[in-house]
Amino acid sequence: MVLRLPHPRRSATLLATLATAAAVAAAQVPEPPPEAAYWERPVWPAALPAVVEPAPRADDRGYDVLHYDLDLRLDPTAGSVAGSVELTLAFPAGRPPDTLVVDLDEPLAVDAVGWDQSPTTLARAGEELRIAAPAGAAAGAVVRIDYHGHPQRHGAYSAGMLFRVQGDSPQVPIGPTVLTMSEPWSAHAWWPCKDHPADKATVRLALTVPDSLTAVSNGRLVADEPAEPGWRRTVWETGYPTSTYLVAVLVAGYAAWEESCDLAGGPLPLTFHVFPRHEAAARFDLAPTCDMLGFLEDLVGPYPFADERYGQVEFKWGGAMEHQTCTSLGSVVLRGDGRFRNLVLHEMAHHWFGDLVTPADWPDIWLNEGFATYCEALWLEHEEGPAGLRRRMASIGPGQHPSLFEGEGLLADPEPVLPNLLVYHKGAWVLHMLRGALGDDAFRAFLRDWVGSPQRAYAHATTADLVRVAGEHAAFDAAAFLDPGCTPTPSPTCRGRPAPSRPPTAARA
Ligand SMILES: [Zn+2]
Repeated sequence: MVLRLPHPRRSATLLATLATAAAVAAAQVPEPPPEAAYWERPVWPAALPAVVEPAPRADDRGYDVLHYDLDLRLDPTAGSVAGSVELTLAFPAGRPPDTLVVDLDEPLAVDAVGWDQSPTTLARAGEELRIAAPAGAAAGAVVRIDYHGHPQRHGAYSAGMLFRVQGDSPQVPIGPTVLTMSEPWSAHAWWPCKDHPADKATVRLALTVPDSLTAVSNGRLVADEPAEPGWRRTVWETGYPTSTYLVAVLVAGYAAWEESCDLAGGPLPLTFHVFPRHEAAARFDLAPTCDMLGFLEDLVGPYPFADERYGQVEFKWGGAMEHQTCTSLGSVVLRGDGRFRNLVLHEMAHHWFGDLVTPADWPDIWLNEGFATYCEALWLEHEEGPAGLRRRMASIGPGQHPSLFEGEGLLADPEPVLPNLLVYHKGAWVLHMLRGALGDDAFRAFLRDWVGSPQRAYAHATTADLVRVAGEHAAFDAAAFLDPGCTPTPSPTCRGRPAPSRPPTAARA
């Protein structure tokens, strides 16, 4: 994701600074002196003031979701959702827990719960549904939850599912839209799920919306047909494991087109859905999509969702989000001058760093944002040479926006998880430092190992994993090198302590 701001609990001044720094820093920062060694460790940025929000949820529920099947009717004018979600389950212990805990925000009403088509009992406690498991329940069980209501703003971004009926200007209204923004833990603000990033599942979404609108989601389009008069039912399905925060629903009166991108594994469908008034701008700004995918394939390996598509969808949000196969871009990105193509690249890079290899839990979110931010710099290096890389890294150094960095930064256990520029900029700098120490060839091998290993691909990883994998590619003690920034034990933290003055001399060539 790139930061979406403003946040209601922040000052207007800080908000403006954050938004500007996140979006346009590269364009405004002067070139550093040529003699500056770009791998030099900056003075570490530190944590932003805390935002009070729920603690991350532990992944200790005693069940694993294999598949979600959502069948939802969305009324943009009423701001309502109604339908059912079926969860297909496995049980690591061989039997289900006595009580199945599923997340669902309190404003949404549950109409019925069934376990393998038999009614079962339900208790509600805050944002948890506690569902009684019947005797004899076994792996492959399907739990169905019928529900309805008006999703409310939720979580770090006051998001979840947002219904917007206003235009973006009185003269040229966009019309009604629905969007979801669930990172880090607001998916359950609009659908019942086990809202934890480490539990990935395949997903099918049947979305019934007014027939003047188009509903877009993850994976492959498998059906699009009239429903009752005035409504349309569109079905999307992904066979790739997907974290709940990466499941998206985007509804608007879109202009749409498709392209094909020849990648190493064959042609990949590219889909584009934008507000009609922005189509010309989007066609220009998104023109490098295929080149960027090719660049990332060369850098780290095959596009991970090649059996489905790479989609980009405009939404009424002030940032962008790496929804799996369905990247969502705020209108601010589509200016028609290519100014924010780094953000197009950023969200695309998340398909390897975040979507394919997902944080085991939210304290590891820098593994998403650090890599995606560093990929922006690598793209500029690819396009412009070393000057592009230096300019980008300087632009995200703390010297450019010292007001954001106060106190001591915790990279791998940030407070708050989001929004927090620290995990982007310091994360990218840790990787940049690691590259300087490893050398380019070993760093590329490390990247390809990080996303390509079956231990992590289509699964999840931790900061401790990163330290270990870096060590496997280093001719020096990577754990010691990273220790000032990333201590793997007893709990992963990255502190702003003084670093070694330089990476090993031999690695700088
Ligand atoms: Zn991001």
